[in-house]
Amino acid sequence: MPTNSSSLHLPFGENKNAQWYGKDILSVKQFSRADLEYIFGVAHEMRGMVERVGTFDLLKGKILANLFYEPSTRTSSSFTAAMERLGGSVIPISEVKYSSVTKGESLSDTIRTLECYADVIVLRHPETGSAEIAAKAAKKPILNAGDGVGEHPTQALLDAFTIKAELGKLDNLTVTMLGDLKYGRTVHSLARLLSNFTNIKLNYVSPDILKMPKEVLDEVAEKKVPQAEYSSLEKILPETDVLYVTRVQKERFEDPADYEKVKGAYVIDPEIMKPAKKEMIVMHPLPRVGEISTDFDDDPRAAYFRQMEYGLYVRMALLAMVLGKA
Ligand code: ASP
Repeated sequence: MPTNSSSLHLPFGENKNAQWYGKDILSVKQFSRADLEYIFGVAHEMRGMVERVGTFDLLKGKILANLFYEPSTRTSSSFTAAMERLGGSVIPISEVKYSSVTKGESLSDTIRTLECYADVIVLRHPETGSAEIAAKAAKKPILNAGDGVGEHPTQALLDAFTIKAELGKLDNLTVTMLGDLKYGRTVHSLARLLSNFTNIKLNYVSPDILKMPKEVLDEVAEKKVPQAEYSSLEKILPETDVLYVTRVQKERFEDPADYEKVKGAYVIDPEIMKPAKKEMIVMHPLPRVGEISTDFDDDPRAAYFRQMEYGLYVRMALLAMVLGKA
């Protein structure tokens, strides 16, 4: 992470020629390794600034519209915190039932409305591809904060930043993803993003009906990243550097009986973690609903609460970049 030269354009004026100015963040597929290193460098600077001064005026006068059609705690509040720590302000629309969406307004029209008032829009929506539809309608940058079972690119960026901050590298790692790999959008984005790095091995552990989609497996395979699927964690836990645990996505199941069959399929606790390395981390995008026992929370390898904090720095970086300030 570069620390010697600052890439923040302090204090005023935006750089319209900056590479990321006005860009949408829709999918991790848009990032090269160099892009990722740049983003992590800016996030690292943001971390330093928050630690030193807390809040500063990089985005003073800028407005973010936070448009959430699905529930959110971390993504929505960390984007709000990110904007406010950068001196900007936020239009929060997390109860779309109180907006014109209930009157039948289309996503495109809602987006066209909000961009009259805001400089950047963060969108979470239950349909895959919705962020792209929004981006087509908008002149201002759209940041995809989760589009159904599609992608969650800003989560994958903060996940990778967490790995780099905690383990000091993103190459030469064995990453094991566990749980609902079919409906979990965070693992779809993370598997794709990690395939940019060298000597990465990806293990997928899930019940048979919740396997990683073929589309993601094929894309990762194209980058020559070794992948293996398992139904149990036992065999691969000792070699794992990052154990990425996910929640079974109850809201995505067509048949509730299927959810009942697989809920609680895996529970990480201190006993299960005994064969794991001393120097490894356990991550989770959260919320957890029983996949990680609270008994494990005090283990130094439990990185899921630190992971949330790293999310603030990454989202500050992304806002500054698309608004021409980094
Ligand atoms: N918060 C993450 C998401 O929005 C993970 C989850 O909900 O399980 O995808």
